[in-house]
This record gives sequence, C-alpha cells and structure tokens, in this order.
Amino acid sequence: MKLKNVAVAVVALALAVGMTACGGSASSTAASSSEAASSVAASSEAASEAASSEAASTSAAAGELTTVEAGKLTMATNATFPPYEMTTDAGDFEGIDIETAQAIADKLGLELQIDDMDFDAALLSVQQGKADIAMAGITVTDERKAVMAFSDSYATGIQSIIVPEGSDIASPDDLAGKKIGTQRGTTGYIYCTDDFGEDSVVAYDNGLTAVQALNNGQVDAVVIDNAPAKEFIAANPGLVILETSYAEEDYAIGLAKGSSLEDAINSALEELKADGTLQSIVDKYISAE
Ligand code: GLN
Repeated sequence: MKLKNVAVAVVALALAVGMTACGGSASSTAASSSEAASSVAASSEAASEAASSEAASTSAAAGELTTVEAGKLTMATNATFPPYEMTTDAGDFEGIDIETAQAIADKLGLELQIDDMDFDAALLSVQQGKADIAMAGITVTDERKAVMAFSDSYATGIQSIIVPEGSDIASPDDLAGKKIGTQRGTTGYIYCTDDFGEDSVVAYDNGLTAVQALNNGQVDAVVIDNAPAKEFIAANPGLVILETSYAEEDYAIGLAKGSSLEDAINSALEELKADGTLQSIVDKYISAE
C-alpha cells in the first residue's frame, strides 16, 4: 500500500509544481518512485503525509531501496523443500516461496536473483547481508529473532513425524529412545535435540537425505515440515506421516536485523494477501484437502 501511495503522491506533486518530467520516473519502478518521493519530500513543504512518511522510513538508511546488488532482490533459499522451493527437471526454480518472492520483486521493481544453498547457510546469508531476503519455509522463532529480522508471516507450517508403516512410534512422545533424522539447522532439529538430546538426532543436509536414511533403516523417524513430508511420502511407498503433529509454526521472510527493506516487503506481502495472489500461488502447489 505504501509504495502505491508514494507513487500517487509523486504524481500529485509533479502536477502541482509543474515537474512533468517526474511523471515518467514515478510510474517506472517502485524503487525509483520512492527515491523521487524522498527528494521531492525533502525539498517541498507540499509533500503529502504519505510521501513524507515513506521518505522518512525508507530513506533513513539509504534514500531508496538499497539491495545487495543494485536493481536486484537477492533471495537465499534451499531448493530441496517442496512445494515451497524446488527445481524442475530443467533446473529452474519453482515453488510457493519462489513465486511469492517473484511477485514481491515485481512490486518493488527489482529483478529476482535466487541463490540456492543449504538451509543453515541461507539463514546465515541474510544475517551477513549477502542476500536481501531468505525464503525457505523459514519458521519464526525467538532464537532466530535474536540474530535476524522477519517479515509478517505468510504461511503456517507444521512439524510432522514420518515413520515406516507399522512403526511402534505413534506420537511425539514415542520418539524417546529412537534415532530421529532431521535437516540440519531446522526447527525439527532444534525441537528434537531439546526434547530428546543431541545423541538421538541425526542432522542431514536436507530433508530428502533424511528420508532416504529412514528408508534405509538408519533412523527410526524423520521430523520435518508437513508440506514437504507429504511430497516425500508420496514418492516413497512404505512411509507414513503420523496424525499427531509435533509443533505448529509461522513461516516468514528472513531479513537482516534493521533491514531497510522490511517495510517495503511487508507492504508488498500485504497487497499480495489482499488481492488473492498469495492464495492463488499456494493453491497452485497445494491442493485443498
Ligand atoms: N520450517 C523449518 C525451519 O524453519 C524447516 C525449513 C526448511 O527445512 N527449509 O527450520
């Protein structure tokens, strides 16, 4: 909403003070219009509230949307987490997070650049300012909030337990004394090590290798987010998801602490929720039950 307001304010100002040349830049990209808004706001008493408040919030740090690479929105992800992020046979990235990030980049007038890496590396990448955003079905936790920032939540996640058919594990409590496979750095890993101790938990590079270990009998169960769990069991007959889930969580976009992008990202997200874009992206990848 804010970005749209700024563009409108810039056009209004351009008309008011006869700066017709400004009209073009106001409509080109969100990034250039917020830049135009801040310079106009700085030099004119006539700036509307929308323009001046946006100028104050986004230009405080840099005067425009400052990104790791100019003109690009760099997203760190781990594309082994279907249906949120994965690769097609042709090697392209797809999934709910990928399309949501693309829609946000479009709104911000930035080109989406995807950097694929391990999940724990994606969290670090955004903390260290090597990526603008991290999207990888990332759960908001207090521990992570101590080292990074999060956008508003855009989805709900559930930690599920996958076991072989006929397993004597029927609930989270039954995981005591078992070998549990998880993906390194995930909440599944954190909860299981907290509840059952590090010796009980094996950390794999990604969910798929954890599930392969379960198939090979190297672990007794895998704790992983429900949406990828469903995809993994569909591809691996003989594995089932327990009805009792381990935990419920919120997914959000990871940002560096103090990121100047936070307001713009939240505004874009808000618009994508309000106009149904986000839901239609979800519906494309997850069929209603
Ligand atoms: N939601 C989990 C977490 O944030 C797992 C995410 C993932 O494996 N991509 O830790």
